[in-house]
Amino acid sequence: MTDQVSPTGAFIEQWRDHAYACFSSGHKFCRNVCPVMGVTQNENHSPTAFHANVVAMEQGLVSLEDVARDYVHCTQCGACETRCPNTLMAGDFYRHRTRTVDVVKAVRALAVDNGIEQPGWKHWVDETVRARTEPVLDVPIEQERVAEWADGLDLPIGGETILFVDCEAAFYRTSLPKAVAGVLKAAGVEFGLMREQWCCGGPAREMGYVARAREFAEHNLADWRATGVKRVIALDPHDYIAFTEDYVEYFARPGTAKHPEDLRSRIVGDDYDIEIVYITELVAELIREGRLKLTVPIEVVATYHDPCRLNKRKGIHESPREILRAIPGLEFRDVDHVTQWAYCSGAGGGLPVERPDLTEAISAQRLDHAANLEVDTLVSQCVWSERPLSKAGADRGIEVRDLMEMVAESAGIDGHVEGTA
Ligand code: SF4
Repeated sequence: MTDQVSPTGAFIEQWRDHAYACFSSGHKFCRNVCPVMGVTQNENHSPTAFHANVVAMEQGLVSLEDVARDYVHCTQCGACETRCPNTLMAGDFYRHRTRTVDVVKAVRALAVDNGIEQPGWKHWVDETVRARTEPVLDVPIEQERVAEWADGLDLPIGGETILFVDCEAAFYRTSLPKAVAGVLKAAGVEFGLMREQWCCGGPAREMGYVARAREFAEHNLADWRATGVKRVIALDPHDYIAFTEDYVEYFARPGTAKHPEDLRSRIVGDDYDIEIVYITELVAELIREGRLKLTVPIEVVATYHDPCRLNKRKGIHESPREILRAIPGLEFRDVDHVTQWAYCSGAGGGLPVERPDLTEAISAQRLDHAANLEVDTLVSQCVWSERPLSKAGADRGIEVRDLMEMVAESAGIDGHVEGTA
């Protein structure tokens, strides 16, 4: 044991029962589904260890310094939660879910609060605070240019519905927001942009920088309120989960957010009621209602990469499949296992910043699974996954494409161009 930092009462009070529920059960099935464990084979990176450490810290057997670095090794994908027998046996009836992701986030936050910082994450968050947008790799970042992708599209500022464009999409894969804007316009959906969009704050929160994350959230909510926003469309799963979990925690009156089965969340306060909708949910609805017609064939054999934050974390897995099946010419081969047991890309939870080597290895595994289905295309709907997946796909002759860009193409939208800034 060290004489360094040990978690204090409030932390232990909040997490001890969860930790003991895992520690005492000893199933450890989560090891086999954890994408990080799959490549490191290091027990310290297992979901079981993340809970057991809390028990050990409570018992005074290890300190926070001893274990803080281990918690880097999680993409916050939620695979362990969906496969945990404690979730499976008690989930349907009691709504119980093992909470590994939240434990990881809590330990990371505790570490930051105690001055234990990871160098890559500290740099990333410092840069995000400086630029008010994430330091997207390979392209210059200036917050003032966050809506440059929309030049020439004649989109209004504000309005009842706005499109929130993720940092990676706004600065790097600008073809994605252009495609989404074209699709929404073609279907007659009126929408605008924020006056001044900042990073959603989700990544900072995932890395443990809770106060910083909240500053971003407060700015964005103030921007929405100032222009009377009633609905926010998210086109990236990381933004969506930040809005539907973090923002709800910060700003929603208790009991107003949602029913667990409801895929659309609301942020309800005294003078605001803002619906959060994910783009695939909306586009599937537009196709169903006949407001968006997909007529241009795309002749590929494709499978779908379920972004973890959509599928395993938020239960959004039907709408992307509905859209894929509506694209003429596309032969869809679904994953060869239970849909909610989808494999991670390795691109979440800050892992690519601290351990890009592991992200690369996990993406390679994901493409191996796709290759087993004998497809030529892997379709994703998470812009952050698309860079590492594309690299792994190039090695295997599988093209990685974004679902919304394919929708734009199949809808015959003028000016649809795939690619990056
Ligand atoms: S959330 Fe995903 S990466 Fe994190 S411990 Fe669970 S399975 Fe592993």
